[in-house]
Amino acid sequence: MAELVLAGLGKAYGDGTRAVTNLDLDIHDGEFLVLVGPSGCGKTTALRMVAGLESISEGTIRIGDRVVNDVPSRDRDVAMVFQSYALYPHLNVFDNIAFGLTLRKMPKKEIEQRVRRVARVLELADHLDRKPRNLSGGQRQRVAMGRAMVRAPQVFLMDEPLSNLDAKLRVQMRAQIARMQRDLGVTTVYVTHDQTEAMTLGDRVAVMKRGVLQQVGPPQELYDRPVNLFVAGFIGSPGMNLLTARLDVDGEGRHWVMLNSDALRLPDSVLRERPALAGYVGRDVVLGIRPEDMEDASLVEDSDGSLLHSVADLVEAMGSDLLVHFPVDAEPADTDDTRALAEDSGADDVPAPDKGTVLVGRFSPRSRIY
Ligand code: ATP
Repeated sequence: MAELVLAGLGKAYGDGTRAVTNLDLDIHDGEFLVLVGPSGCGKTTALRMVAGLESISEGTIRIGDRVVNDVPSRDRDVAMVFQSYALYPHLNVFDNIAFGLTLRKMPKKEIEQRVRRVARVLELADHLDRKPRNLSGGQRQRVAMGRAMVRAPQVFLMDEPLSNLDAKLRVQMRAQIARMQRDLGVTTVYVTHDQTEAMTLGDRVAVMKRGVLQQVGPPQELYDRPVNLFVAGFIGSPGMNLLTARLDVDGEGRHWVMLNSDALRLPDSVLRERPALAGYVGRDVVLGIRPEDMEDASLVEDSDGSLLHSVADLVEAMGSDLLVHFPVDAEPADTDDTRALAEDSGADDVPAPDKGTVLVGRFSPRSRIY
């Protein structure tokens, strides 16, 4: 086990594509870090550079106290699990799991012990003689995990290992990966484009966009305090509702967010947390509301006068929740915006599209919505 440090890491492909720019990440010993972002943001490239499968254009990679930039992949003591599993079709489960150990000429007896122990943990002990084609998707995925685990590497690298599984199996395997990583305590970097996986698995989550790290922190911190509109829109499902609005203050010093035909009272706590907002009175700002922070109509009426006029145009019953879609007379905000929120949360130059916005609210099935 070891700390993994990426410093100023960059990658430009031969055709000029910049896949990763100046990536700084300090992944602690035993930590589970999830690298997340939309397709093409450079997360796989970053992982492959750590694995030694891709050359580095700039920066350094350190594993423990060793800079590994020029160390060949097989000598880096990392194990990678690929999206495709990359199992050998002609080898049975035992030999697939044992492959890396056999290659290293480990004594047969020790190989046998290690493979059987890992197979027991992954519930593959009854399938050791089978070929990959005779396994289910979930079992194949576990063989791929087993091959990484059996080597007891310093670092696990996982590239979307669950994306070929159906939704139910994905949830099961997610829990299994979390337990395995916790029990083994191996420093892990896990790449996904799925923010739910990122939030549930990561001790910390690093969000990337177009090769650039946007924010890194514990999942709840990203959820509660996104640094920019991109992170605000990316983290959370359904996503945060983001609207352009105007900030106003009334005679009693209460702040309001004005939409085209509605006014929402801004809680004093928001102003206390972000005092810079006071400087935006009379200017355009971006309003972000998490779906679960909308209250049902019966509550809104007797609260502080905030009122959003809308007629729900779609209700999705999820069993545990109702997702209600409300068209409102306001402009959506630009979730491509990566400017920092703390100082410059104004949206003066956000182009105003000529359409309204649909807000999504998450309510209890017992809510009164009318
Ligand atoms: P996905 O989730 O779709 O796998 P990603 O975030 O992992 O995406 P990368 O695969 O790292 O992204 O790709 C980052 C950028 O680098 C993309 O624009 C991609 O087209 C480009 N890229 C990847 N491999 C190469 C290559 N061999 N040559 C040129 N450009 C490449």
